[in-house]
Amino acid sequence: MSSSRRIILKNGVVLLHDQKNQVVPTKTSILIENSKIANIAQDIAAAEGIEVIDCTDKIISPGFIDTHHHGWQTQLKGRHANEQLLEYMVTGNSQHHQYSPEDVFYGQLAGMLEGIAAGTTTVVDHAHITLSPDHARLAIAATASSGIRSVFCYTPVMAVKQFNPLGFIQNPFEDWVMQTFHQIADHGAYGSGRVTLGFAFDLFFLPAEMIKGIFAQVKEKGVKTITCHGSVALGMSLVQNLKRLDLLDERIIISHGGTIKKADAELVKAVGAFVSSTPSTELQMAMGRPYSFDASFLDGGVIGDSIGLQDNGSLGVDCHSCTAGSLLAEAKLGLQNARNHFNEFHMKQGKIPRTVPESLSVQSAFNLATIKGAEAVNMSERIGRIAEGYQADLVVFDGLSPSMVGAAQHDPVAAVILHSSPADIETVIVGGVVRKREGKLLRVPLDGCAKETAGTDVLEWSSIAKEIIKSREKMQDAIDKIDFSEAKSTLLKVFHVDEGRLVDV
Ligand SMILES: [Zn+2]
Repeated sequence: MSSSRRIILKNGVVLLHDQKNQVVPTKTSILIENSKIANIAQDIAAAEGIEVIDCTDKIISPGFIDTHHHGWQTQLKGRHANEQLLEYMVTGNSQHHQYSPEDVFYGQLAGMLEGIAAGTTTVVDHAHITLSPDHARLAIAATASSGIRSVFCYTPVMAVKQFNPLGFIQNPFEDWVMQTFHQIADHGAYGSGRVTLGFAFDLFFLPAEMIKGIFAQVKEKGVKTITCHGSVALGMSLVQNLKRLDLLDERIIISHGGTIKKADAELVKAVGAFVSSTPSTELQMAMGRPYSFDASFLDGGVIGDSIGLQDNGSLGVDCHSCTAGSLLAEAKLGLQNARNHFNEFHMKQGKIPRTVPESLSVQSAFNLATIKGAEAVNMSERIGRIAEGYQADLVVFDGLSPSMVGAAQHDPVAAVILHSSPADIETVIVGGVVRKREGKLLRVPLDGCAKETAGTDVLEWSSIAKEIIKSREKMQDAIDKIDFSEAKSTLLKVFHVDEGRLVDV
C-alpha cells in the first residue's frame, strides 16, 4: 500500500480558472495526494486511508498570494492607527531595535499564522528584521514552522544602533551580512521546500558598483524574487534607479507604485517585473494609489487612459502592525478605492459611468490575489489556481455563514471578495497539509532551531499568543523610554526630507 497522504474535498463549489483566466465556479471534488492536486472530478471514490472533508455548501478557492508583507511586526500591532509614514518609520520600522532573535521568532510565527487563518497560503516576506545571523535563522524557522509558503526575502538593514539620540549602524554590509545570506542559500530547502530564499533591497544611496556586486551575488544563488520599496515621499523613482543599474528584470517586485510615472510603468511591463499594491498602508500613509488597479492611473494625469499596470499588478498586506493580515481585506479595499477613482474621474467631467469596467470587477480583484500574485513570484506553473498537478494550496469558505449566505449561492467570487471575512474560512490547506480546520488554527509542529527556542516540539496558538503578550510588554518598557520628538527630527535629517514640505494639521 502507498504511504501517501490523501485528502478528498468532496462536493464543493470550486473556483476554477479557464484558459482566459476567467473564474468558472464548478460543483466538483478535489483529490489531494501529498502536496499536490491529483484529480478534479465529480466522483472521486473514498477509500481506506483517504481523509474526506465534506464541502457541500462550501466554496473552494485557490489560496491567496500576498506579495508584500513584513512578517515580524506582530508585537507592534495597534500602535500606528493614526500615523503617517514618517511617524511609522520611527514608532514601527525602527523598533526592530527592540527585537531579540526570540522576539522575532514569536512575532514572525504569529504573523504568518494570522495570514494562514485569513486564507493566505503564499507570502513574499520583505524581512527587514535580519539584523543578525540568529535573527535570520529564527525568522526562517518560524516561517517554516507556520506552514505557509514563503519567499523569504533576506534584507540588508540600516539598523538602529541606539535611541536617545537616534543613531544607525555605519555599515549595513558588515561581513556577516552576505556571509549569512550565502549560508542560508546553501542550506537548501526549508519547510519541505515551502520556504525559498528571496532578497530585499532598499539601500539605493550606496555606490552603484557596490549595489551591482551585491545583486550579482544574489543572482549567483539562483534567487528568483527580489523586492524593493517603491515608496514614497523620499523623492527618487525606484524604477529609474533599477534601470540605471541595469537591475530591472522579471525577478523584481516593487512594493507600492508611489509616484510611478507612465514611462516607469511601461518599463515595468516591458521586463515582466511586478508591482505589489498594499491598499491599507498606501491609502493611510500618503504612499500613492494602489496602482495595481488600472483605474488608479486615471485622473492623476499619469497615463491618461485606462491602460495601467494591472497585468503586472498584485496585492500585499504590508504591515500587519497597521492593518489586519488579510489579503482579501486588501483586495476589497483596493477594488473599492479604484472604483472611486474611476467614478470620480468621470463625475468631475459631468459624466455618469454607465457600467463598471472589467478591470474593476470582483473577478479582477480575485485574480490579483491569486493568479497575478503567482506570476509576480514566478510560480504560476505551481500555484495561484486550482488545477491538476498544482500545489494543493486551498481555502474553504462556509457558504452558509451569516455573511456569505445568499452571495455564495449567487456569485461565489463576489461572496469571497466583498462578503467574506477570515471567520468564514473553515479550512486552509498549504502544500496538501491542513493548517486551519473547522475555523481554528491547528497545532504547529516546530521546524529546525525553532524547537530549541520554544523548548518544545509543538505549539498551540494560545501559547504563541501568550508569548506575544510577554514579548510586547518587554518592548513597551523600552519604547516608553524613547524621546520620540528627537528621533523623528533625526530621521527627517537622515532621509533628507525637506521640512518645508511637511503639512501641519
Ligand atoms: Zn513595506
